[in-house]
Amino acid sequence: MAKINGNYLKLKAGYLFPEIGRRVREFAAANPAAKVIRLGIGDVTRPLAPAVLKAFHAAVDDLGTIDQFAGYGPEQGYDWLINTIIEKSYKPLGVSLSTSEMFISDGSKCDCANILDIFALDNIVAIGDPVYPVYNDTNVMIGRTGDSDDKGYYKGIVYLPCNEANGFIPALPTEKVDIIYLCFPNNPTGVVASRAELKKWVDYANANAAVIFYDAAYEAFITDPSIPHSIYEIEGAKKCAIEFRSFSKTAGFTGVRCGLVVVPEEVMGTTESGEKYSFNKLWLRRTTTKFNGASYPVQRAAAAVYSDEGWKQTKEVIDYYMENARIIREGLTEAGVTIFGGVNAPYIWLKTPGGMTSWDFFDKLLNECNVVGTPGSGFGPSGEGYFRLSAFGHRENVIEAVERIKKNLK
Ligand SMILES: *Cc1c(COP(=O)(O)O)cnc(C)c1O
Repeated sequence: MAKINGNYLKLKAGYLFPEIGRRVREFAAANPAAKVIRLGIGDVTRPLAPAVLKAFHAAVDDLGTIDQFAGYGPEQGYDWLINTIIEKSYKPLGVSLSTSEMFISDGSKCDCANILDIFALDNIVAIGDPVYPVYNDTNVMIGRTGDSDDKGYYKGIVYLPCNEANGFIPALPTEKVDIIYLCFPNNPTGVVASRAELKKWVDYANANAAVIFYDAAYEAFITDPSIPHSIYEIEGAKKCAIEFRSFSKTAGFTGVRCGLVVVPEEVMGTTESGEKYSFNKLWLRRTTTKFNGASYPVQRAAAAVYSDEGWKQTKEVIDYYMENARIIREGLTEAGVTIFGGVNAPYIWLKTPGGMTSWDFFDKLLNECNVVGTPGSGFGPSGEGYFRLSAFGHRENVIEAVERIKKNLK
């Protein structure tokens, strides 16, 4: 019989979202009249911007004509999309990139997972706690860890606790690590890193020949002009950082699927014999061998996000979500809840009142307010005692949910 990849058995069964689903279903069955409002999901709810949709439709029509038909495109993405993103989104930040440094994909989750292919297994990896679970679980799957302990920490990974004391921004590791995952604006905590904060990480990475995986999936939600959108705004970052971006939250592409990775030519690793080797070269090799490109109409739609009209409309949707975030933030603050995030990110991270556990607060909100959120403990042990609310809902639901919570907690 063929043997399985036993690393998968080290993973804790997908617990968080199935368990949320189970409790909500149970509640709904017992209370069929209750109008349950879901602020737990990390998915968008607004439709695509009209200009993006138009470009998407036109590109589908191209496929039906002899002249415009598009078959296999470049595995790493079309130049017209890459150059548009560089011009419209990176150049205004003062970041210059060459076409060969950007790779278009079908989304950031896959990129965050696939990037591990080009790094040796004996690299020491540091991740935050709480964290986007993909970083942790993909390292387990690829075989970089041992089993997990009672708390849920896997042997071999360096966890960097994010808590109220450090403002949910991890301290530099005390041991030498080779790969560091950073995500700002953060999911789940909604906090952002200042320029000075990021500089600290870039300096650490350059001093220790480490590589930073910078997940900027929520950069478009930054409202404070002093907060960097890209790690490449920090001096020295092009030597040590790989950046991930996605059209998912920025432009409502969670169902359309498009993301990108930036691997600067200067980011180097070492071979077995100690020579320097470019990660960009390896990523190109991996991409051209294992991927056949994001689809042509999707890349056309993505390019339209950066047209004048497309960006104006896309920005309106982002502003809509950020107004939701403001409503949640201010409403909960009025109700006496301690909250974090929600200013430069579509997530509000709240401290459970009265020291309740994350799951107890989940049950209280579900049973007494009929509102669904996400228990912080599901994102890692340091998330215990916290709770995530998402600003991606419909406005009237957000307003009603906040009113219910306010009434309940007063
Ligand atoms: C949503 C999200 C992504 C984007 O995932 P896609 O696969 O592009 O939809 C990446 N990182 C984080 C932290 C996210 O929350």
